[in-house]
Amino acid sequence: MDLGLVDKVAIVAASSKGIGKAVAQKFAEEGAKVVICSRNNDALNKAAKDIQEKSGQEVLPVKCDVTSSKDLEKLFKTAEKYLKKVDILVCNAGGPPQGTFEKLTERDFSWAIELNLKSTINMCRLAVPGMKKRKWGRIIAITSISAKQPLDDLILSNTVRAGVLGFTKSLSNEMAKYNITVNSICPGFTATDRLKDFASGLAKKSKFTVKQLFTSWERSIPMNRLAEPAEPANLIAFLASEQAAYITGTAVQIDGGYIKSII
Ligand code: NAD
Repeated sequence: MDLGLVDKVAIVAASSKGIGKAVAQKFAEEGAKVVICSRNNDALNKAAKDIQEKSGQEVLPVKCDVTSSKDLEKLFKTAEKYLKKVDILVCNAGGPPQGTFEKLTERDFSWAIELNLKSTINMCRLAVPGMKKRKWGRIIAITSISAKQPLDDLILSNTVRAGVLGFTKSLSNEMAKYNITVNSICPGFTATDRLKDFASGLAKKSKFTVKQLFTSWERSIPMNRLAEPAEPANLIAFLASEQAAYITGTAVQIDGGYIKSII
């Protein structure tokens, strides 16, 4: 299937590793011009080099902390300066820390809102005017299964991800008339550093080892395995494609069957 991504310009936020990097890699393989960002220049340049080598497509790395409005403005200005437009925006960030309600402070909640919800809102604010002008746009937010089925010890994620779904659904209604689609994806357990860090944190305060935690997660997934980062990346590439023009306002889970509810 031709995704129609050749020469489309995509900003993929938080993309020096993990799911974000896999998305950038997939876009580049499909012929899109990709802008990647993260807070650390060394990791960012390494990722850009790696994607370029594998795809043969040039990638533009821009140092940016998605919680900083100033950095986000610079990210969009740089993309528009060198690549002239932004057709596709993938909103992504690190995950908020684990913990239960009584262990977390007001500051922790504010931080999670900044990291995952406000960053998404701020990126959309910068992307929408150009997409509206060109009457074409794709916005995809990376959230989590936690938005649909809360996960133990992750109350921050459970709270703010649901907020992102509310925001993207509302925005999709407002943007449909401009031919801009807005969707979210809800990844399940995916083999990235984030999951390793989560397992180490959990192992420290439970009687289980990291290996036992991974085994128990695998057993809880009907597909009996974790996702590879390329799997949510493939879904995002489809949602960003010409073929997905009529899909908007959805929150698609990609979790090997983990979520127990029907819808
Ligand atoms: P990861 O830790 O492997 O990668 C995160 C990326 O985000 C890195 O490139 C990092 O440098 C960058 N980043 C972090 N904070 C940033 C910031 N403030 N500004 C700019 N860049 C920043 O994580 P991942 O597993 O790829 O997860 C991506 C998102 O998906 C996270 O929000 C995570 O919570 C969510 N998620 C992950 C899983 C999973 O199992 N891996 C499951 C559900 C949801």
